[in-house]
Amino acid sequence: MNKPIYVTKSSMPSFEEYCKKIKVLWDNRWLSNRGCIHKEFEALLQERTGCPYVFLYANGHVALEVGIDALQLPKGREVITTPYTHCSTTHSIVRNGLVPVFCDINTDDYTIDVNQIEKYITPKTVAIMATHVYGFLCDVEGIDAIAKKHNLKVIYDAAHAFGVKKNGVDISAYGDMVMFSCHATKVFHTIEGGITVFKDKEPYDMINNLVNFGFDGPEDVKWISTNARMNEYEAAMGICNLKHFDNEVQKRKAAYEKYAEMLSNVPGIKLIAEQEGVTYNYSYMPVFFDGYKYTRDEVQSRLQEHNIWARKYFYPIVPDLTCYQDQYGALDFPNSRHAADTVLALPMYADLTVEDVERICKIILE
Ligand SMILES: *Cc1c(COP(=O)(O)O)cnc(C)c1O
Repeated sequence: MNKPIYVTKSSMPSFEEYCKKIKVLWDNRWLSNRGCIHKEFEALLQERTGCPYVFLYANGHVALEVGIDALQLPKGREVITTPYTHCSTTHSIVRNGLVPVFCDINTDDYTIDVNQIEKYITPKTVAIMATHVYGFLCDVEGIDAIAKKHNLKVIYDAAHAFGVKKNGVDISAYGDMVMFSCHATKVFHTIEGGITVFKDKEPYDMINNLVNFGFDGPEDVKWISTNARMNEYEAAMGICNLKHFDNEVQKRKAAYEKYAEMLSNVPGIKLIAEQEGVTYNYSYMPVFFDGYKYTRDEVQSRLQEHNIWARKYFYPIVPDLTCYQDQYGALDFPNSRHAADTVLALPMYADLTVEDVERICKIILE
């Protein structure tokens, strides 16, 4: 049996590099609550994103939850969102006392269909929350225009999209709040972690309190909040990984190009086309088996027989999950359901060799 190939494998700095970075913690004993490593990491991210309002969290999900809380959207109002995403996107809306209104996706890049958004806008709508699926960008200009016209906030779940640029501009420039997940399985990681970038200073100023139980100064608690702090060890991993990020993306690109060479132009296999002007991060390798000689599930089991682990990502769509099923499961999202039924995320990580990609593709094609 060949060595297993999993769907992803975390990028890591060298052991020595990481140890050097955390050594200071044995001297200062400041392990969490915005220590010196945290501040250094924050400054690097401000530089990289070109935005001053960058905040770090314990994970991507709490970053969304607390970040939305800081936007202070009135409770009970509606947020137009996508069914084709991680449940975290929807949970962060619902756990903030807001109501998700699902709008189907387009079939080009599988992000929210901007041509359908307006039909869901009501007097109760306060925001649009979309996901840059697999690192492919939503129609950020289209969404921006709708939001301006109807006075809505724009929130992006950019969990997959760290480092992606549009016409040379970091994508955190688009939206009132943008969240990047830094989980170990994501393209850029801090072991566990999350980042939000805000357009305005006001929500950013509130966040300090909200990630720390709602404390307002040392003696009073003004908001009923949570603990969502990133610790110094995570920030240190972030600093080390950031240094290697562009290089790791180049390695992923080589794997991606081999996949594209072998799988494009095969009848019944669809890859997402590259988007014009977008510098991609090659975070995932989504492939759609639609009318291929094997079904998606058959391809997945054939790979598994060779100890290769691909993932149905995203499947099922959020409205069909048990916790949302009774409210939204009966609604029609044909494009999202079709994507979920045909998609397979193939192995993709920086250390995946071109030979491994070749072997994976041969199994799929044989
Ligand atoms: C991973 C992910 C999240 C959650 O991030 P964590 O860091 O794992 O909490 C949210 N949204 C999407 C689209 C994700 O892929």
